[in-house]
Amino acid sequence: MTTISDAEVRSAAITFVQGIRTRFGGRVPRTALMEGVLLHGVRVPIWNYQKGIFKPAVVGPLGAALSIQTSVDSPYDDDHDLEAGLITYKYRGTDPRHPDNVALRRALEAHLPLIYLVAVDPGVYDVVAPVYVIGDNEVQLQFTLVADQANVRTSTVDVMQMTLRREYATRAVLQRLHQQQFRRRVLNAYRERCAICHLRHVELLDAAHILPDRHPKGEPVVTNGLGLCKIHHSAYDANIIGIDPDARVHVRLDILLEKDGPMLKHGIQGVADTKLSLPRKIELRPNRDFLAERFERFVAA
Ligand SMILES: [Zn+2]
Repeated sequence: MTTISDAEVRSAAITFVQGIRTRFGGRVPRTALMEGVLLHGVRVPIWNYQKGIFKPAVVGPLGAALSIQTSVDSPYDDDHDLEAGLITYKYRGTDPRHPDNVALRRALEAHLPLIYLVAVDPGVYDVVAPVYVIGDNEVQLQFTLVADQANVRTSTVDVMQMTLRREYATRAVLQRLHQQQFRRRVLNAYRERCAICHLRHVELLDAAHILPDRHPKGEPVVTNGLGLCKIHHSAYDANIIGIDPDARVHVRLDILLEKDGPMLKHGIQGVADTKLSLPRKIELRPNRDFLAERFERFVAA
């Protein structure tokens, strides 16, 4: 059997996932990840969707993990600790000596780069690489990780510089994942439909903020969100569409009087005076005060 070194596998796998991330952005389909990498004629998988911690067979029984995966929907609410600026990753089970946990610990001991995969929709992933395991807590049963910039030669920089760079990269990743989590939670609450037109294609859906990100109360929480398709999201942001505190849709007067094709006629003018389809659970419905404040801006526009 051909010997393939850990360094070869890791370097090829990280280059590969960085490439697909550039190609697909934060929405990499499962099929693209399944390609794996080809080394000396051997196809090496980089991930197994059924496993949280993955170590390819070619690195041998004493090898280190290559990738880890989680979901923005994860039942552990601790994957992205914005405050601490760290990514946390729960052990597989509760036994620190479980082979998967051991494989991840080896990546920590040998300072090896890994791939972090986060499911943002069913079968769709955001990819972060490289990440490094920097901590292992047997009491909390979790590892801590940091991200690093792509294509950095770690041997040529000093520790201080590396720490700062990784802090910066990790914060950017955490912010990104936090937004992905907001989107997923809102889409779950809205049963993956646009609240205005009921469109069901998840790749065409967004979580719109009611009060914007930069507003002091504009937090990424479900009650400050609306599940909307991309057209209605943009129309809402542009004050073409307004939503009053009773969740009724308003269309700006000049737009109502315009003449144009079917998108304007059916997609925009046709939704005037309809009611939003809201989440079944009352606690997930939009905050009335937020809707009211935002609606005032629409009226003034
Ligand atoms: Zn829509």
